[in-house]
Amino acid sequence: MIRTMPVIPEVETCIHCGLCLNQCPTYRLTHLETASPRGRIYLIEAASHGRLDVTSGVADHLYLCLACRACETACPSGVQYGRVAEAARDVLGPPGRPFQRAMVRFALRHLMPHPGRLRSVAAVIRFYQRSGLAALALRLLPRRLRRPAALLPEASTRFYTPEAEVLPAIGEPRARVAFLTGCAMSLFFAEINEATLRLLRRNGCEVVLPQNQACCGALNIHNGEVASARAMARRNVDAFPVDVDAILTNAAGCGAAMKEYGHLLGDDPDYRERAERFSTLVRDTGEFLAALGLRNSPKATDRVVTYQDPCHLAHGQGVRAQPRALLAALPGTTLREMVASDRCCGSAGIYNFLQPETSDALLAEKMEAIRATGASVVVAPNPGCMMQLRYGVRRFGVPVRVAHLMDLLDEAGA
Ligand code: SF4
Ligand code: SF4
Repeated sequence: MIRTMPVIPEVETCIHCGLCLNQCPTYRLTHLETASPRGRIYLIEAASHGRLDVTSGVADHLYLCLACRACETACPSGVQYGRVAEAARDVLGPPGRPFQRAMVRFALRHLMPHPGRLRSVAAVIRFYQRSGLAALALRLLPRRLRRPAALLPEASTRFYTPEAEVLPAIGEPRARVAFLTGCAMSLFFAEINEATLRLLRRNGCEVVLPQNQACCGALNIHNGEVASARAMARRNVDAFPVDVDAILTNAAGCGAAMKEYGHLLGDDPDYRERAERFSTLVRDTGEFLAALGLRNSPKATDRVVTYQDPCHLAHGQGVRAQPRALLAALPGTTLREMVASDRCCGSAGIYNFLQPETSDALLAEKMEAIRATGASVVVAPNPGCMMQLRYGVRRFGVPVRVAHLMDLLDEAGA
C-alpha cells in the first residue's frame, strides 16, 4: 500500500517559477532539482496526491534541506517553505539512519522539554571537556567520529539560572520585557545571557525571567517532532506574562519559532488566542534595542567587524538592518560585509551532525567569505551559528573572534 502525505495548503501557492533555486544552498551545491525548494515541493505534492510513496528516499531529499528559508526571501509567490518543510517532516518523523533517528527522537522527546535533564547533559559535557577526555577523544577516535566530537560546543563554566524572577531597570525605566533564557544559550553561552541582561537593564528595561519557561521547541519543530514542540509552546505561553512591552530572545532560531506560536497552536482552541498574542510580542534583542535606541554612549574600539545573518533572523524574521544599525553605533567599529552574509553557514540546528558533507562544504565557503573581509570579529547572534563558526575558525585556521552582538554592545558599555 502506498504511504501518502496529507495535503499541505502552502504547497498550492508555488507557481514552479524556479526563482528560488539559486538562493537555495543545497541546489547551489548539487544542481539537482530534488535538492531545490521547487523539487522538494514537487515531491511533497506527488506524495500528497498518491503519485509517490513516502519512502526513506523521499525523507532523504526533504532532510537534505537546511530549513534556512532563503527560498522564502526569493519567492515572488509568498510560499512559506519553512512551514511546508515542518509539516512534511512531521509526517516523516526525525531524520537520519535508524540508530540516529532513535537518538534524535529520544533527545527531542525526553531531553529538550526538560530543562533539568538538559542541565545534567551539559554537566556531563562540561566534565568531558574539562577533564581532558575530549582532547584524548579527538586524538584516539576514528576520523568518522572525530568530527562530531570537535563540533561539540564548549559548555559554559556555569549555567544561566536566574536568581530572581524580576531584574529591575538601571536608571529611569523605559520598558518592561520578559526574556527567554533558552536551552543552548543557558547551557553553552551563559555569559552572553548575562551580557544581554546587563545591557537591557542599563538601557532602562525591567526584565522578567519566568521561572517555569521551557526551550522554545525550534529543534523539535524542524525535526519531525511537532507534538512535543506544541507542548513546549503551551508551557511558554502559560509561563510568560503578556503585560510587557516585548518577549525577548537573543537566539535567532528561538525568535523565529516563537513568532510562529500562533500558527503552531492554531488548532488548539484553548491556546490559539493566547499564542497569537504571545507571538506578536516576540522580538529579537537586537531588533528591540535598535527600536528602543541605546541610552549610553558606547566606548570606542578600532576594529573591523563582519556580520553573519542568521537564517532565522534574516529570512525567518526579516531582521537585517537593526543589528547592523547597532554595530554602526559603536565608535571605531567598521562593518565590512562578507559575500552572501545571509547564506547558511551549515549549522542549521542538528544538521551539522547529521549531514557532515553538505555542512562542511557550506562552512568552507563561509570561512573563505569571512577571511576575505579581513575582519577581526564575526558577529552572529544565534547559538547554532556561533557553534558552527567557532568550529570553522578552529578547523580552517581563520584568525577571527566569533561574537554575539550582545557581547560587543555590553563590552562597549552601551
Ligand atoms: S529552506 Fe533553505 S535549503 Fe531548504 S529548500 Fe529553502 S533555501 Fe533550500
Ligand atoms: S517556491 Fe516560490 S520561487 Fe520557488 S518555484 Fe515555487 S513559487 Fe517559484
